[in-house]
Parts: sequence; structure tokens; C-alpha cells
Amino acid sequence: MADQNQPPSQEPASTDGGSPHEALFLVLPYLSVLELLNVARVCTSLRRAVEDDDDILPWLNLVVERPLSRRLSDQRLIGISSRGKGRLKSLILVDCINVTDDGLQLVVSNNPLIAKLHVPGCIRLTPDGIIRAVKTLSDDNNDCRLKSLCISNILGINKQHFHTLCSYLQRAHKLGDTATSNIIDVDICPVCDEVSQVYACPQSSERGKCNRKGCKLCIPRCEECGRCADCKEDVELEEATLCSEVLCSECWLHLPKCNHCNQPYCTKHAYRRQQPQGGSGGGTGWLCEACHVKANEVLEHGDDDD
Ligand SMILES: [Zn+2]
Ligand SMILES: [Zn+2]
Ligand SMILES: [Zn+2]
Ligand SMILES: [Zn+2]
Ligand SMILES: [Zn+2]
Repeated sequence: MADQNQPPSQEPASTDGGSPHEALFLVLPYLSVLELLNVARVCTSLRRAVEDDDDILPWLNLVVERPLSRRLSDQRLIGISSRGKGRLKSLILVDCINVTDDGLQLVVSNNPLIAKLHVPGCIRLTPDGIIRAVKTLSDDNNDCRLKSLCISNILGINKQHFHTLCSYLQRAHKLGDTATSNIIDVDICPVCDEVSQVYACPQSSERGKCNRKGCKLCIPRCEECGRCADCKEDVELEEATLCSEVLCSECWLHLPKCNHCNQPYCTKHAYRRQQPQGGSGGGTGWLCEACHVKANEVLEHGDDDD
């Protein structure tokens, strides 16, 4: 990473008074939200292009993930989503821990065409806030398009909330009792009777498919391949991951490991891998968060006995 502390007072792209290369405008529809926000900062003509082009897909299919998700406030969400001018088709917010019920509701009210509402890990949202949003989207007055609802890791969703959500969707889509399982990503666990993500073990053998069903707590299973602990003939579950996830030995072997402690993150937590600083230590690979902190302390205090 080179030092770029100088203010970009003169953009190289526009010093000759012309506009940025045409190719740049062609790629706009394919950029992520974060990339678009960065591009908009480069120069006026690009900012205008980003703001005015009605067909920029990210404004219609809004996906906010890491690293942007933690910085997304209600205000920023409302600002970004308004660029779709009420035509938003998907709203996918992953781990957006600062978005509240009111922020979500405002976006949903202004965008009745939303077909995909995914808010996993948005822990400030409440069950009542989600019910309100789904009610708005499945209102009698608008032809309900909501076809996919992800609410895993929203705290406090009980059976009553779940049934309320299902009833709105069933009524809006004129569905039978069981048909909402294709729309909502949580269900009632057949073992503990709580609302959670319920999986079926995909392992099959000569004796047929395992298909054991339950939530993560009731049926321990490998985070990567989904096989359950009872399919032990082939799967040995161990907990030697940096994110305390359960993995089978096969998946454990295949995941990349920390340079120092030789432990893996699961795929879901791969973003926590840290790039080692300084030239020492092999060049390639990565460090886990704990080893990264330790390595930096050593660098700072010059304890490296060379
Ligand atoms: Zn359970
Ligand atoms: Zn596995
Ligand atoms: Zn199984
Ligand atoms: Zn490590
Ligand atoms: Zn993990």
C-alpha cells in the first residue's frame, strides 16, 4: 500500500479538460456498491454518471456486505437506496449492525417492488420491525413480489413471530400451509421447537440419504459440507477452527490455515484472514487475527532477535 496522503485536487483523468475514458462508464453497471461510491469520488463527470444512470444495477439490487456493512447507518442506507428511485428489486444487507427498524421500514415503504429482502445478522432489527416490513411488502394494495426473505441471526424471533410472517406471505401469494419454506430461510426446528435455520444432512450412503433434520444446536454438523455428527463412519467432527465452528476432518484438511498456528477459518469467516505486515515470514499466506496482533506487537517493540 503506497502512501496516498495528497488530496486529489487534480484528477489525471480530467486534467486535459476531457472526461474519463468511455470504458469506465461501460463498467459502472457491474460494480459493487462500495466500488460505485469510490468511483463517484474520482471526478465530477463520473459522479454524475453514477448518480444519473437509471440502469446501474447495484442501485436496483442493493447488496451491502463487509467491509461497508458496519459503517452503514440508517441515513446512509436511505441515501443509497433512494438512487434506485423506488424501483429496488433486492435489498441485501449482511451484518449491517447499525440499521434499525425505522431505517428498514422507510426503504421498504419507498420500494414496493422488493422481491428479495435479506437481512442476516442485522442485529439491531427486531422481529416486530421485520414483521412490519413484510406486512408492507405483502400489502393488499400492491401485488406482492416478495419471494425470498432471509432473517437468520435476527435476535428473538419466536414461533408466534414466525407464524405471523408466514401468514402474510401465504395470504399475499395465496399459498398453502407449507409453501412458505421456500421463501423464508428459518423454520421451526423439529427437535427443540425453536425458530432457527433448519438443515437436513445431505450425506447419502448405500442405506439411502441421512436427511437428519434440525437446527445447529440440536444436530451438530460440519459448517462446510453440512454432514451431521451421526454420519460418523465418514465424518469426524472437530472444533479446531479459529471461529469455533464444527468441521469434519475432510473439510478441515482442505481449508487454508494461519501461517503461525495452522488453524483454519471456515469459508464464511474467511474475511477475518489478515495479511502479514513487513517482508518477513514467508511472503504468501495469511495470519489469523490473534497471530496478527502478536506479530505486530513483536514488530513494534523490536523484540525480533535477528
Ligand atoms: Zn433445534
Ligand atoms: Zn465437512
Ligand atoms: Zn447425517
Ligand atoms: Zn494463527
Ligand atoms: Zn467460521
